[in-house]
Amino acid sequence: MSASPAWVEVDTAAVAHNLRAVRVALGPGTPLCAVVKADAYGHGTDLVVPVLIAHGVTCLGVTSNEEARTARGAGFHGRILRLRAALGEEVEDAAVLDIQEWVAGADHARVVAEAGDATGRRPRVHVSINATGISRDGIDLDVPDAAAQLTAIGADRRLSVVGVASHFPREDAEDVRTGARAFDAQSRLAGALLSTRPLERHCATSYAALTVPESRFDLVRIGAALYGDTSAAVPGLRPAMRLVSRIAAITSYPAGRSVGYDRTHVLDAPAHLAAVPLGYADGYQRALGGRAEVLVRGRRAPVVDRLAMNTLLVDVSAVGGAAIGDEVVLYGAQDAERITAADLERASGEIAANLYTSWGRLLPRRAAPSPD
Ligand SMILES: *Cc1c(COP(=O)(O)O)cnc(C)c1O
Repeated sequence: MSASPAWVEVDTAAVAHNLRAVRVALGPGTPLCAVVKADAYGHGTDLVVPVLIAHGVTCLGVTSNEEARTARGAGFHGRILRLRAALGEEVEDAAVLDIQEWVAGADHARVVAEAGDATGRRPRVHVSINATGISRDGIDLDVPDAAAQLTAIGADRRLSVVGVASHFPREDAEDVRTGARAFDAQSRLAGALLSTRPLERHCATSYAALTVPESRFDLVRIGAALYGDTSAAVPGLRPAMRLVSRIAAITSYPAGRSVGYDRTHVLDAPAHLAAVPLGYADGYQRALGGRAEVLVRGRRAPVVDRLAMNTLLVDVSAVGGAAIGDEVVLYGAQDAERITAADLERASGEIAANLYTSWGRLLPRRAAPSPD
C-alpha cells in the first residue's frame, strides 16, 4: 500500500448489501439498471462492477466510455446504457463497447447515427422526452416540431430505437407522481411515432423508484441507493465510502491566536491543533472549513480553519490522547460515531454527492478490509 496522506475507503460489501436491500424494496418484476456514472459515484467502477456482476446485475448505467471500458474489462457482458447525450466522437470511440445511447432530439440523433455509421454499427438508442419538465436533453412534446422529430428519429435506418426515457428534476413524491403520469401518457405517444414495436419505458432514479412505485415502468435506474446515500426511505442502507486521513502533526497555541487563513477562528483558550494533510485541492471543499466535524479516537472534533490547499486544522483539545498518526475520519464511521451525508450537507450547504464524487476521483481508493 503506497503512502498517501488521505484516501477513500470503499466498502464493496456495503454495495452488495444495498443492492440486496433495493431489490427487496422493489420486489420481483422490476428490472434494475445499476448506475456507475462518475466512476461509480467516486467509489471506483473497477471496485464496484465486479460486485454487481457477482450479484447478477444485467444492466449498467454509465456516462463516460471509460466506465463502460472498465466494466467490459471486468467481464461485464450485459447491457450498458449511457445516461446523457454523448458527443459524436464519444459514440465513435464506444464502437467496441456496445453502449446504448441516450438521444436528445432529431439533431442529436443524427450525430449518433453518423457516428455509428462511421464505425459500421447501428446504435441502439433510447429517446429522451421532456415529460417531467427537467428540460435538459429530452424532446418536449409541446414544441411545434416534436412529432416531426420523433418520426424522423424512428425513420432513420442507421438507428435502432429501443427505449423512451425521462428523468425527474425533484426528489419529492408529489412531483414524481405527476411526472410519472405525464411520462406514461407522453411515452405512449412518442413510442407510437418512434417505432411499430413496443419500446422499453423508463424514468425512475433511486428516490423515484423506491418512493413512487408507479414511476417504475419497465426499468429503474438506481445509483445513489447502491452507495447508501438516498433520501428515499429504505431501511438499512449502508454508506459505502469513508474519507480517511491521519494526524500529521499536533501543535499547541495560546489563547488569542487566530487560526489559518483570513483569521476566521480565534482561540478562546489554549488549544492543541491537529494538522490533517487534506485540503480543498483534494475535494474537501472550502465551504466545510469552520463548519464540519471529523472523527478522532471515536470522538467528534471541529475543523476550525478555512482550509489550505492540502491541509486542514482540527481542534483536538477535547480529544483525550490524540496523537500524531491517529486515524481521522472525515466521512463515514469510526468506532460508534459517524459523519453522515446529512452532516456534510448541513456543513457545506451542498448535496453530499457533490463532495464525495470528487474525493473518490482525486484521492487514492482502497477497498475496505472485509469483515470475514
Ligand atoms: C444519475 C442518474 C440516475 C440515477 O440517479 P440516482 O438518484 O443516483 O439513483 C438515473 N438516471 C439518470 C438519467 C441519471 O443521470
